[in-house]
Amino acid sequence: MCSGRVDLEFVLRAFSNGMDGVFIGGCRLNECNYITHGNYHALNMVLLCRRIMEHIGLNPERLRIEFMSSAEGNLFAEVMSEFGNQVNKIGPLGKAEGIEQNELKSKLAEITKLVPYIKVVNQEKLASRLENPEEYDKLFTKDEIDKLFREVISYYIDPEKCQACMTCAKRCPAEAIGGGKNLIHVIDQEKCIKCGTCFEVCPPKFRAVTEIAGAPVPPPIPEEKRTIVRKSKES
Ligand code: SF4
Ligand code: SF4
Repeated sequence: MCSGRVDLEFVLRAFSNGMDGVFIGGCRLNECNYITHGNYHALNMVLLCRRIMEHIGLNPERLRIEFMSSAEGNLFAEVMSEFGNQVNKIGPLGKAEGIEQNELKSKLAEITKLVPYIKVVNQEKLASRLENPEEYDKLFTKDEIDKLFREVISYYIDPEKCQACMTCAKRCPAEAIGGGKNLIHVIDQEKCIKCGTCFEVCPPKFRAVTEIAGAPVPPPIPEEKRTIVRKSKES
């Protein structure tokens, strides 16, 4: 119903499935029927995604957004035919950029896994309402996107501080936290989508979840050392 519903993940999935180009059509800016103005969200997502494409070596011209009303059939046909020609000229996805298919798949999979993190880090910019097309290119810069991926934050539970309250495991949207009653909790880095929820919900009196930027995460504490022996039980 709304271009604002087109998530960054959908676009990455289309490229991952081998589409050579992705076109998003939205209502004219400032003519949204609702108060949400989802077309601005779609525009910001496209601007971000084009930078991400640059980062992984894909031609950003493969992704395009245009705004038009449903009464503008001629304009739609014109734009689609122009975009189709443009994508044809660029050539097959990856091949034209000199990226091997498997390498491209794994790069796209890696980025897709980071979508929640990318959205959290860029939430303010993704909510912008750019009135002037001259501002479009400046919303996200290549340098900041390169830095974003260079300094990806990982989350780690400090075994010395975890009190097995289980809050983080209950709230983790990716079921990436293992634990249980009286067990020090651990994050499965393969499953973690870096949403930061565990960091936010770990009670301040424990502060067991730490952020690690651009550095390796310590290995998880071995299973046999995860049981917390409470003082009252010891006595
Ligand atoms: S950051 Fe924490 S809550 Fe979010 S997916 Fe990773 S482990 Fe789960
Ligand atoms: S919320 Fe904090 S203290 Fe509670 S289980 Fe998770 S890491 Fe441990």
